[in-house]
Amino acid sequence: MGEARVYNFAAGPSQLPLPVLEQAGREMMNYHGTGMSVMEMSHRSSVFRQIAVHARDRFRELMNVPDTHDILFLQGGASSQFSMVPLNLMTEAGAEYALTGSFSAKAAAEAEKYGNVHIVFDGRGNGYSRIPDQSELKLKPGSSYFHYCENNTIYGTAWHYMPQTDGVPLVCDMSSSLTSHPVDFLQYDVVYAGAQKNMAPAGLTLAVVRRDAAGHESASAPLMMSYQRMIESGSMYNTPPCWQIYMFGLQMDWLAGIGVEEMEKINRQKADLLYGTLENCPVFHLHAEKNSRSLMNVTFRTADEEMDREFICGAEEVGLVNLKGHRLTGGMRASIYNAMPPEGVKALCGYIESFDRKHRRQAVCTESGF
Ligand SMILES: *Cc1c(COP(=O)(O)O)cnc(C)c1O
Repeated sequence: MGEARVYNFAAGPSQLPLPVLEQAGREMMNYHGTGMSVMEMSHRSSVFRQIAVHARDRFRELMNVPDTHDILFLQGGASSQFSMVPLNLMTEAGAEYALTGSFSAKAAAEAEKYGNVHIVFDGRGNGYSRIPDQSELKLKPGSSYFHYCENNTIYGTAWHYMPQTDGVPLVCDMSSSLTSHPVDFLQYDVVYAGAQKNMAPAGLTLAVVRRDAAGHESASAPLMMSYQRMIESGSMYNTPPCWQIYMFGLQMDWLAGIGVEEMEKINRQKADLLYGTLENCPVFHLHAEKNSRSLMNVTFRTADEEMDREFICGAEEVGLVNLKGHRLTGGMRASIYNAMPPEGVKALCGYIESFDRKHRRQAVCTESGF
């Protein structure tokens, strides 16, 4: 095994901040003199309750979550929210969905089991390479909600504005962008996220729910799928993912030391550097249209798969790992969440430039018959 840590560009589970891992390591065997690990504690113990309350309060303070909204620690991944949202919010009026990637398409397909779904935008035709403008969103007035996915992890696109909906409640999948920038939660009925992209290890799902939007679930909704039940029980109706909540708290402490506004600036600088480098290297092509580019997942490719493979293998040799694109898209994807330090992006840019130089030189040599 190698001694050094690598720069891990995985889309999720993904790289965690080193100070968070170090603290978890120090507290692994004996958490604050309890003589046991957080993994071994009762979720009803006062020590664990403090851990959970701290994690929730930290997130509330950091992200400015208003008192009108509850923060829920759930399980089942963001994919369970694809059904939990319609089970709790869908009315006879139906719901509106924008399809900007495979996760939003999956969410819409799941919602169709519970009511009428109106597809407001379907990006499949353009290979999910762009996000619609506000003028393209024709919502039906009175719909139960409008669902969109802010950052499309697989295709590398993102909404850079909050959709105006004329009173139709907003629901957003922020799995790969929550905590990467400030959010105005007052505008949303539900924001949810699988934590394994940008906030914690896999196993925790976060939902921020407007309290008065809950409590209207269908009578046949499974109890574990009721926002109301989860609010009433403080997310502890059953055993919560204790270790992940603890790790989430540590990551929120780490982020509080930076601040979310500052984090957004850093994320923008990292993305600008990477996109700028790729634009200047003719060997590479970007997938997302310029105005729709994600700051979290950068998707690109060369002209052929063989060269893509060479790029990915060569990167691994210099400690830049998990750059292979999703199986649906091929090519490459660099996920540069909060925990990816600017140094990691700089190292990737250096490798991209040298790869580009090498291949352009080879092309010149081939053309001139050497
Ligand atoms: C990863 C991801 C999901 C699925 O999350 P799970 O926790 O694996 O269910 C949904 N939406 C987005 C935007 C994602 O990135």
